[in-house]
Amino acid sequence: MEFVRLGRTNMMVSRLGFGGIPIQRLSEEDAVAVVKRCLDLGITFLDTANGYTTSEERIGKAIAGRREKVTLATKSGARNREDFEKHMKLSLKRLGVDYIDLYQFHGVNDFKSLEGVLAPDGLMPLAEQAKKAGLIRHIGITSHQIDVAKKAVQTDRFETVMFPFNFLTPEAADELLPLCRQHDVGFIDMKAMAGGMVDNASIAIKFLRKFPEVVMIPGIEKIAEIEEIAAILQGPIEMTAAELEEMEKIKKELGSRFCHRCDYCQPCKSQIPISTVMCSGSFYKRLPPEGFYGGFVAPAMAKVAECLDCGECEERCPYNLPIREMIKEQADWYAGLKREYEERVGCR
Ligand code: SF4
Ligand code: SF4
Repeated sequence: MEFVRLGRTNMMVSRLGFGGIPIQRLSEEDAVAVVKRCLDLGITFLDTANGYTTSEERIGKAIAGRREKVTLATKSGARNREDFEKHMKLSLKRLGVDYIDLYQFHGVNDFKSLEGVLAPDGLMPLAEQAKKAGLIRHIGITSHQIDVAKKAVQTDRFETVMFPFNFLTPEAADELLPLCRQHDVGFIDMKAMAGGMVDNASIAIKFLRKFPEVVMIPGIEKIAEIEEIAAILQGPIEMTAAELEEMEKIKKELGSRFCHRCDYCQPCKSQIPISTVMCSGSFYKRLPPEGFYGGFVAPAMAKVAECLDCGECEERCPYNLPIREMIKEQADWYAGLKREYEERVGCR
């Protein structure tokens, strides 16, 4: 396994990390087996979050007895001090550890939230205190919004940044990655497989191998998936002619209908969480049914009915997506799936 220095944290972590979202869908036994197989393959960087329901606890069970061999990253989406402290304590407990290697502010997608993190009475002072107390070792941030991520890096207050980066969403290569190099901030790639939109692991991973400092954390649900990716990392770095052709084909097919979750389309007059609705296909693949039908996706879908057809979001979308048409399609698709699910569960 190749190792990468994670920016100014100075931690050496495996180039291939583990993304802890999909193990929520598995039984605990299977989830623990998947994480253990990752460790056996030489993966040392494991990422999870307070918000990923059972993920922290399952990772904690899988690493029991091997704590010193892994680098644990988790995150909190709290926006107030009380919740932030609660989340950190809970993460330590669920993971069953005395310290967390990397604690990240989760989903900081607008400047107001970034200011809230950095304010003198905000969350950063709490994270810094926890660092002094030895509860966490390093502080990072995750974002889907490139301008916010760039600003965060420039503040020199964060040691790592996590951002989506793949051949369908390659924008980070232009400015964010160079900025990370300049500020010695570690770069963690959160959507190696475009959030489940890309099935061809060879193309997705070979694209990322061109960027040697990037730590990738594909979400892993099956042992075969991680074995395949680990093998790709051992193989040739260059794409074959057929793969290059396939990559262009995928870009063409998905490119014009692919939401980058940048949220430039906001604010929506009806407060529709457009990117959540647009990316529901990815949530369908990654969340357990209770989360997909009962969590944050359902209210997002319900909001689509309140669309005023004003078209302002489409004017702001840099990818010219037909947002109004797409959100309605997604809402119809979701309603059908939900009906089937409720009938199935009701029949048990
Ligand atoms: S068209 Fe609909 S989704 Fe777009 S901004 Fe207007 S109300 Fe919101
Ligand atoms: S719809 Fe367009 S602007 Fe909105 S999040 Fe998706 S890609 Fe970004």
